[in-house]
Amino acid sequence: MTIQENVPLAPLTTLQVGGAARYFAELRREDEVREAAQFAKTRDLPLFVLGGGSNLVVADSGWPGLVLRIAIGGITTQTTDAPGIAVLFSVGAGVNWDDFVAQAVVQNCAGVECLSGIPGSVGGTPVQNVGAYGQEVSDTIESVRALDLKEDRIVVLPKPACGFRYRASIFNTTERGRYIILRVNFRLKRGGAPSLKYADFQKYFAERKTPPSLAETREAVREIRRSKGMLLVPGDDDCLSAGSFFKNPVLSEEQFKDLAERAESRGLEIPSYPALDAQRKVSAAWVVEHSGFSKGYAMGPAGISHKHALALINRGDAKASDIVGLKDEIQHGVQEAWGILLEPEPVFVGF
Ligand SMILES: Cc1cc2nc3c(=O)[nH]c(=O)nc-3n(C[C@H](O)[C@H](O)[C@H](O)COP(=O)(O)OP(=O)(O)OC[C@H]3O[C@@H](n4cnc5c(N)ncnc54)[C@H](O)[C@@H]3O)c2cc1C
Repeated sequence: MTIQENVPLAPLTTLQVGGAARYFAELRREDEVREAAQFAKTRDLPLFVLGGGSNLVVADSGWPGLVLRIAIGGITTQTTDAPGIAVLFSVGAGVNWDDFVAQAVVQNCAGVECLSGIPGSVGGTPVQNVGAYGQEVSDTIESVRALDLKEDRIVVLPKPACGFRYRASIFNTTERGRYIILRVNFRLKRGGAPSLKYADFQKYFAERKTPPSLAETREAVREIRRSKGMLLVPGDDDCLSAGSFFKNPVLSEEQFKDLAERAESRGLEIPSYPALDAQRKVSAAWVVEHSGFSKGYAMGPAGISHKHALALINRGDAKASDIVGLKDEIQHGVQEAWGILLEPEPVFVGF
């Protein structure tokens, strides 16, 4: 294990803002992770675990302690050849998420195809229970193998212990900072049909007479994501982001009624579709766009993507403070217009 000093973090994130890590180590093996955690503990250094850096805003002052970049690789499967049978994938936390999805699809295994094209590492996905187009990783996660920093031992957390909810798990709520995820175990279904719940898919496949395959569904997802700047494409300035910057607000009946009345008084209707209806979830993109922040909005070097109202982007040379300034401005505008406080989705590091 090599510990480096003063390593710039911005290039290791998709938003590309922020300062340096005082100490930094890239770790490929479980024993190295333990060793690095011990290094931090004995020196009383604050620890931050970095995956693919796709859900982060790093402060301009950087991180004063040790950043551990988890680079544990390897995808293994336990399988039988019969169709419709579960296949267990054990995937290293450092594996690129989309590489794993690609491999699952090549092996004709269903369950993660709608999550194609999401940036970041496999180890990052349980943290906020990554989801898109009607699937969430918690649908297929069997267990998570992690280093428990509190007990100083490696544990395997079965899915129910992970406390998965919408964009949440124990890893980003009650037990934040306790676990370093080492591997994630998924249960996929060989020969399973792709999940095509979303209207975007129905539109995409409207002309087709036969149901699309997993591979075609994966391509459709990547294509739809590309059109929204939600796929990392070199040269596309709209993807210098951390993905969606705000969560869809989940409102109480009373809050929802208030919002609907405000909308009605302006001759507007709150968009509604099944995924939102279930919990009185409201489209954050809709409220942002109806609070005076349209796609392409710019505030100095920070801005909103031209393709997606929820993606705050680095327009070139932005600092973390520029991104945070724009976030504050949007939160304030939305609160004024709709009485809703939007909750940011990315993790703020070193603030
Ligand atoms: C263009 C774009 C599109 C996106 N689209 C989506 C989307 O559709 N749906 C969605 O849910 N998200 C989306 N995201 C957000 C992001 O890709 C996911 O949250 C991703 O899973 C983050 O993984 P990461 O490895 O990059 O984590 P990082 O950004 O490096 O870290 C995020 C958090 O996870 C923790 N973490 C990371 N790895 C580990 C580990 N091994 N052990 C313990 N903690 C860890 C970090 O400490 C931090 O708290 C998008 C982002 C971008 C830039």
